[in-house]
Amino acid sequence: MLNIVLADLQNSYYTITRNSIPINIGYIAEYADANLDVPRSIFLSRKVNELFDYLRNNKVDVIGFGFYSWNHSLVIKTANEIKRLYPDSLIVFGGPSVNEKLDLSCDIFGECIAVDYLIANEGEQPFLKLLNAYLQDAPALRSGKKVVAGCFGRMRTTGQLHGQAQGRFEGDINTIPSPYLSGRLDKFLSDKLYLPIVQTCRGCPYSCTFCVSGRHSWNKLRTFSIERIRSEFEYIQLKSASTYLRLADENFGVQQRDLEVAALLRDMKDRTGYPDSVSIYTDKHPSDRVLEINRILSDILPFNISFQTMTASVLKNIKRINVSDDRINVALRFAEENGLMLVTELIFGLPGETVDSFLASVDKIVRLRFESVLILQLYILKGSEMDTPSHREQYGVKTKFMISENGYTEYQNIRNVEVDEWVTETNTITSAEYALFNKTILMFDFMHGYGFARELMFLFESLGVAPSMLLKRLACDESGVSQLNKYAMSYMERVQSMLKTTKAEAVDCALKEMESDVENRMTGVIEAEIDIMIDIIVSDHLNAVLNEISRVGAALVSYDVRKLLPSSWEETLLKETVKFCLASAVDVRGGLGDIYEEYSYDFVGWKRGKYNGVPMCLDHPKSLKFTVASKPTIQNMVLDISDIRTRFRKFFSVTNSRTNRRLCEVVNQDLLN
Ligand code: SF4
Repeated sequence: MLNIVLADLQNSYYTITRNSIPINIGYIAEYADANLDVPRSIFLSRKVNELFDYLRNNKVDVIGFGFYSWNHSLVIKTANEIKRLYPDSLIVFGGPSVNEKLDLSCDIFGECIAVDYLIANEGEQPFLKLLNAYLQDAPALRSGKKVVAGCFGRMRTTGQLHGQAQGRFEGDINTIPSPYLSGRLDKFLSDKLYLPIVQTCRGCPYSCTFCVSGRHSWNKLRTFSIERIRSEFEYIQLKSASTYLRLADENFGVQQRDLEVAALLRDMKDRTGYPDSVSIYTDKHPSDRVLEINRILSDILPFNISFQTMTASVLKNIKRINVSDDRINVALRFAEENGLMLVTELIFGLPGETVDSFLASVDKIVRLRFESVLILQLYILKGSEMDTPSHREQYGVKTKFMISENGYTEYQNIRNVEVDEWVTETNTITSAEYALFNKTILMFDFMHGYGFARELMFLFESLGVAPSMLLKRLACDESGVSQLNKYAMSYMERVQSMLKTTKAEAVDCALKEMESDVENRMTGVIEAEIDIMIDIIVSDHLNAVLNEISRVGAALVSYDVRKLLPSSWEETLLKETVKFCLASAVDVRGGLGDIYEEYSYDFVGWKRGKYNGVPMCLDHPKSLKFTVASKPTIQNMVLDISDIRTRFRKFFSVTNSRTNRRLCEVVNQDLLN
């Protein structure tokens, strides 16, 4: 009997964090199972405690770990512990953190004494070869003497490394049986904390320097058959405890047949109500096909065009496609005609970006009326082009280290802190600018990304106050916006206090915080930001913060523009805009019932017109109804959590930019005419 364990470990500090069902190790398991002709058992695990529980009661021969930037240290620590307890087990790492060049992956052997073999690129065939080699001569593999095709190994006696990576899966990937249809993933499907994920295609035709999928060998697309995808969708719909679905594709819509896949999803949604929401990375180029896919899935998918930056020279530096203004305008018109919500994200700190060029991107995105924009900060993914010494040198990249999101696990002898490497300085952004910009990020994300003051930002933009003006004034006007500044400062200080010069210092800082963390608020940057959003809500400061923003914005509206507005605009329009923002926020401390309010301005028509100009003043006030989107998911996942902060955290983790605010509709029909 050959006993195989496959683990795609996740850190477990936030037990509320949703993780995808591990189809990666599911594929490896299926391919091995279909091609081995000896009795075997294969166990899959996502959690450290489950893995050790299994090992205590079962014999193991070969353990394969999925090796990613988000579980790098956890995998190494777990592997070392397993080797200590079960020295005869053969340990293999595979995944994007293994570079296909041996000289760029040799560090992993240095970092982890336990690992015997590494597999770069798609792992199904090299792992099968390794199992067959193990069956023929297990001692030769344990000693690292045996060279296995597609694997990197190390001779235990001399430390000499050997082997070569396999480029891609050889032959048709449909020969890998579906891990869903075999029932292998049922135990994950029945747990609502796991997000079902379907891969319809492997590969990415682009080469973004910050991403591990930008590798040349990954450029060619390989597809799973439509019939198989249809069967997987149906199977998941029947078995999944989660109301969500995610596609693993990196550029959905890049192929003609993706329209068929979208039609399958549409049909399933119409027949069964599943999924409540779908998460998909669509093609970076908003082609007609991508537009059509977004139209087909309009009620379950926000229309995302991932820009990262709009600065042409920076796009060139990161080898990212530059979408023409004409094409953006086509997408905008399409979104407007079809009532789609346009969202995007920007990354601060990319090579060649300055604070001003970045703020110009922000202004442009808001001017184009993207309805949700999140600002992310750059960190370096192991194995990406940005991770190379030449790239760092070219752009003067300096970095610091900080605990990753959800990057902590404690289990018996294992105490793990996962660390990310953040870009804190380049030859175009100083470290002081970087630190200070955290305030701007918090303010912008509060207003626009999370949407708490979205309409206020659009209103001021229409009145000639660019977001960059508003943000700069908010960031320096400490007396005028005391509440928001207080929150933005605390975010900035928190991020700065966690950023450390070395990995060891970052780990040490995280461990110390963990010891004093009575409130369970140990975080990475995203959770730190969410914590501030929660602080604002649960301290009942949302109203005060919105009023502060409205005062600062109104002061920036120029005298010339004011002359065109009714003299009472601050008392009426501005006040109602704040009221509208407040009604749109979802407060999961209360119920999810509908909210009815009267308005004397036509906010629904303004939104329908993509927030151009200002809302029209109505002859008679009209009632608006604010409803919670994605109610079933929130009821299913959020409301049974008793701790209020945890409940909000969960809410933000299960909603997206389409569902994290209330939807608004007019109750009185004649407003529509
Ligand atoms: S960021 Fe997206 S488009 Fe760019 S290389 Fe990665 S997966 Fe491909």
